[in-house]
Amino acid sequence: NLTTRLAKVVKTMRGEARLTESNTAEMLREVRMALLEADVALPAVREFIAKVKEKALGEEVISSLTPGQALVGVVQRELGALMGADLGADASQLSFAQQPPAIILMAGLQGVGKTTTVGKLAKYLKEQKKKKVLTVSADVYRPAAIAQLQSVTAQVGADFFPSTAQDKPVDIALAALDWAKKHHHEVLIIDTAGRLGIDEEMMKEIAAVHGAVKPIETLFVVDAMLGQDAINTAKAFNDALPLTGVVLTKLDGDSRGGAALSVRHITGKPIKFAGVSEKLDGLEAFDPQRMANRILGMGDILALVEEAQKNVDTKAAAELAAKVKSGGKFDMNDFKAQLAQMKKMGGMSGLLDKLPAQFQQAASGANMDQAEKQVRRMVGIIDSMTPQERAKPELIKAARKRRIAAGAGVQVQEVNRMLNQFEQMQTMMKKLSGGGLMKMMRSMKG
Ligand code: GDP
Ligand code: MG
Repeated sequence: NLTTRLAKVVKTMRGEARLTESNTAEMLREVRMALLEADVALPAVREFIAKVKEKALGEEVISSLTPGQALVGVVQRELGALMGADLGADASQLSFAQQPPAIILMAGLQGVGKTTTVGKLAKYLKEQKKKKVLTVSADVYRPAAIAQLQSVTAQVGADFFPSTAQDKPVDIALAALDWAKKHHHEVLIIDTAGRLGIDEEMMKEIAAVHGAVKPIETLFVVDAMLGQDAINTAKAFNDALPLTGVVLTKLDGDSRGGAALSVRHITGKPIKFAGVSEKLDGLEAFDPQRMANRILGMGDILALVEEAQKNVDTKAAAELAAKVKSGGKFDMNDFKAQLAQMKKMGGMSGLLDKLPAQFQQAASGANMDQAEKQVRRMVGIIDSMTPQERAKPELIKAARKRRIAAGAGVQVQEVNRMLNQFEQMQTMMKKLSGGGLMKMMRSMKG
C-alpha cells in the first residue's frame, strides 16, 4: 500500500537500510566520547573506532531496527570481542600444563595489588582447583613485602617459602622451585617487586627470574584505576616479558574500566581475572561482555532511550524529555521510572530481542538473568532512599549510604556502584538534552 511504499522511499532516500558514513558519523563521535570518558588511551580509542566503522559500514539494518540501534549492536559486539569474548572460555583459564609445579610469575608496578592477588590466587587454586600451592616473594627491596606475602599466604592456608632481603631474586625463585619439587607442590606462585614507575633494572630482574624458572603463566597485574596510564606500563611489561595473561585489580573502585581496553590493545593477552575487593576472596573470572558494557556505559542507556521514545510509555518519556530539555534535572525518581519502564518492556531479554542476531548469540541466558537481578537490586536501593535523597543524590554521604545499603540488604559498594551508574546516566541525559543524539535518532527513524 501507499504508506509502506512511501516509507520505503524515505528509507532509501535517507540511506536507512544500511549503516553509512553519514548516518554513523555522529553516533561514532558519541561512542568516541564515551570511551575517552571511560579513560581509555587515545590510540586504543582510534583503533577501536576504525574497526567499528569498518564493520558497521554497509551492514544491513534489520527492518525492526534504526541505524542507531544497529550501530549500538555493532559497538557492543566489537567491544566485547576486543575485551576477549571471542577468545572463548578457555582463554580465561590458568594453564597447568607443565611438569609440576606449574609456575605462576606475577609482574606489575608497585601498589597495583600483586601480593594481594597472589593470596587470592592461592586461595582460588587451593579451594576451587584442589591444588597444593607454594608461594614465594622475590621482592627483596622492602622487607615488609616478604612479611606481607607470608601473612596473606597463612590466611588462605597455603604453604610459604621464606626468603630474605639479602637473597637475589633469581636464587630465591630457584630455591623455591627446588623446594616445591621435593614437597610435591602442584603450583608455585612467585611474587615480585614493583617500582613506582617503569624501571630498566626492574625489567631486567624480572626477565632474569622468568628465564631461570620458565613459568607457564606470567601474569601482568594492572590497577584499573590507572585508566589510560595503563597503556605505557602494559607496553613496557609486554616488551620485557612473554606475558600469558592479565589480572585487572581494583575494579570495585570508581573506574569505568578504560584500562582494560588499553591493556588488551597493547598486549592482546586475555584478561584472566578481576580483583574486586581488598579481601582475599575478592577475585573473579573476568567477564569480557560485562566489561564492554561497563566501559561503554551508554549502550544500555541508548537502548532505553530509544525504547522509551518509541512506544511503551510515550507520555512519561515525553514528560521526561520535556523536563530534561527545559533544563530540569534528571534525578533518581526519573531513573527509577526508567528502570520500571524497562521492566514493562520485558526486561533485559525484551531489549535483547531487538538487537541483531549476532549480538543475541553473544549474550548468554545466564548474563541476562544476572542483569535482571541487578536491575531489581537497583530498584531496591532506590526504594530505600528518602524522597529528598532521590531528588538530590549528591547529598548521599557515607552514613546515608550505609543506611540505604542496610535497607536494601546490599553492600555499601553496590550503593556506590549504583550512584556511579546514575551519575553516568545523568551526564548522558545532559548531552541528550542538547538535542544531539536524541534529535539525530529521531531523524534517522524517518
Ligand atoms: P603490590 O605492591 O603490587 O604487591 O600491591 P599490594 O598487593 O600490596 O596491594 C596494594 C594495595 O591495594 C593494598 O592496600 C591492597 O589491599 C589493595 N588492593 C589490591 N587488590 C585490590 C582490589 O582488587 N580491590 C581493592 N579495593 N584494593 C585492592
Ligand atoms: Mg607486593
